Amino acid sequence: MDNSGNIIPSFPRFCTFSQKYVLRSVTEKFDVVIAGAGPAGATCALALQGSGLNVALVDKCQFPRDKICGDSIPGPALKILRKVLPNSPKEDLLPEDTNRIRSSTLLTSSGSRIDIHWKAEAYNCRRTSFDQFLLHLVRDHTDIHVYEADKIDEVIAGDQVTLHLETSGRSLECDLVIGCDGANSIISQTLGNNQSINPESCIALRAYYKDVGSPEETNVFHLLKNIPGYFWIFPLGGGVFNVGMGLRKNVSDAKINIKEAFRSAIEENAMIREKFNHATILSAIEGFKLPMGGYRGRISGQRFMLAGDAAGLIDPLQGHGIDKAMHSGMLAAQLAVRCFRHHDFSETFISGYDDSVEKSIGKELRRNYRIMQLLYRLPWMISLLAVVTTNKKVKDLLLKGFYIS
Ligand SMILES: Cc1cc2nc3c(=O)[nH]c(=O)nc-3n(C[C@H](O)[C@H](O)[C@H](O)COP(=O)(O)OP(=O)(O)OC[C@H]3O[C@@H](n4cnc5c(N)ncnc54)[C@H](O)[C@@H]3O)c2cc1C
Repeated sequence: MDNSGNIIPSFPRFCTFSQKYVLRSVTEKFDVVIAGAGPAGATCALALQGSGLNVALVDKCQFPRDKICGDSIPGPALKILRKVLPNSPKEDLLPEDTNRIRSSTLLTSSGSRIDIHWKAEAYNCRRTSFDQFLLHLVRDHTDIHVYEADKIDEVIAGDQVTLHLETSGRSLECDLVIGCDGANSIISQTLGNNQSINPESCIALRAYYKDVGSPEETNVFHLLKNIPGYFWIFPLGGGVFNVGMGLRKNVSDAKINIKEAFRSAIEENAMIREKFNHATILSAIEGFKLPMGGYRGRISGQRFMLAGDAAGLIDPLQGHGIDKAMHSGMLAAQLAVRCFRHHDFSETFISGYDDSVEKSIGKELRRNYRIMQLLYRLPWMISLLAVVTTNKKVKDLLLKGFYIS
């Protein structure tokens, strides 16, 4: 783009070559391109409002789009949204079809239980709806250029970064790219050499069910016998439930078939089976990977930063990633503004982003990673926890530092 905002084609528009070649010749210039319009990308876009920067937000999908998830929106995610939109009334920052969650219950295979009542606000909401809502906020509150249904299929680093879009054939040139493009991030693969991703990740699957015999305001977790993971039942309201199972990725070494494990949990685990006596499945059973946090890989470099799943920031203990995605998206926007103020896009200057993520997110993730590893090695500790946490004072002390209480 020139200074007046006009698109500068880098090749004559009328060309006798293939249409792809003609389309590829259109180059648009931006200060910042955000790759991916999920929670990390949308929050980053919102946090750049008022910065004066010329920003593009690109997603390969047309919204509303589904994202395989447990649909549990952690309380801190809403706090971040209020931070980036401080002048919006609180009630405008929540999609309509949310289901308020007031507690969580953890059940062990031996029948012990831990009940946790949430002080912080927490909701369940289908990602189709939540992510569409965030993108609406971007459109309502910013003048960012949004490109949907256009996949970034090539990333070229040079004096600037050039991103090629597959469907429209456009090329986007920018000073800075923020990779918010999820667990299979092309930005992480090409510019970051995948350094951000913890090799010890998890996989999880989910399906929607109707009429599960489980409370409407409680997220229920069942720990499974002999399987390194848990089974969840999260209510979405109106009798619909998000049901899923998360496993450590080394299950593939242990030759566990996750879909089989999911079905057999419903058919053979007595505690789970009785909840599904009258349940009907509403969707396919679909899985996806969770890039776990608690790993200290580089998440930035010359002219790029990674946020959310692209940076591997999922809480290894609770399996949540939406809040960390939104938080890191906001931090990336803040560093982006500083880069332009100082005209510095060097690896050294941008490493300030790694430091701020480490300070506000990384420490917590590493602590939870250590707890997760301990609980997997010594599973009896969960039953012990169930006993000691019947005392409210002990429970408050042990859960201090988690956003749940
Ligand atoms: C089964 C499962 C259950 C989960 N349950 C929960 C839960 O209950 N609560 C919770 O907080 N977290 C949960 N998570 C984690 C959570 O889904 C992620 O942490 C969160 O979605 C990360 O947000 P993000 O914006 O970084 O990435 P995403 O939400 O994955 O968004 C990335 C976006 O980038 C786009 N994109 C990707 N590649 C390209 C490309 N080449 N070009 C253009 N666009 C591209 C995608 O279309 C997508 O819209 C779960 C994950 C799984 C797999």
